[in-house]
Amino acid sequence: MTRRTPGAQARRLVERLRERGIRSQAVLDAIARVPRQEFVPEPIRFRAWEDVRLPIGLGQTISQPWTVARMCELAGDVAGRRVLEIGTGSGYHAAVLAELGAIVFSVERHAGLADRAARTLRRLGYLGVSVKQFDGTYGWAAEAPYAAIVTTAAGPDVPDALVRQLGPGGRLVLPVARGSGQRLLVVRRAEDGEVIETDCGPASFVPLVGRFGYRAGPGRDPDPRL
Ligand code: SAH
Repeated sequence: MTRRTPGAQARRLVERLRERGIRSQAVLDAIARVPRQEFVPEPIRFRAWEDVRLPIGLGQTISQPWTVARMCELAGDVAGRRVLEIGTGSGYHAAVLAELGAIVFSVERHAGLADRAARTLRRLGYLGVSVKQFDGTYGWAAEAPYAAIVTTAAGPDVPDALVRQLGPGGRLVLPVARGSGQRLLVVRRAEDGEVIETDCGPASFVPLVGRFGYRAGPGRDPDPRL
């Protein structure tokens, strides 16, 4: 990937994330290095360095930088390790993981978004990221096991396939619906195979739509084949 020197906007964003509790310097450095404007549609590029999520088309959003940073912290040390992302969207979160040194596999159900993200990532030199279009609630078994799996859309529960594709000591970071809202969970697979779940606070993500998520339906999320 191309080395870049963070500009004033990137430094301001990093300061804001630090104030909001992000502690990992590696994560803050990674956020500062990814040119977020490249992952945002042209008309709203002027907002790219704000700590907010923004629309990217097809009813989907690029995640808020704070959310990406928090999920990266919770994923643990990913340098040189395999990471699966469910929900490529713009490709931004995948780029941050790549800046952390991860070997990234990312799955997106919308072909249009997957193609665009793959092109953006290639253009920016993130060659260690593989993007594929399919239903990520099945995981990506052919490339498993993973040191970490992050899901950037919220389902009704924890998909079993994702837990099975974690390596020993691996972590699954994902939002799930709980009560009337969503919670961000970390599901860890201990060395002895025991599965431990930790609640890391409230969350707000688009729906995870697929075989082991929500069903696609009118007014919810368009069927990607239409
Ligand atoms: N990580 C992204 C955020 C994208 S929003 C970024 O940084 O831009 C979540 C994405 O999850 C959406 O693009 C949505 O289409 C996708 N998604 C929802 N259900 C999915 C599924 N079952 N498999 C793969 N992607 C899914």
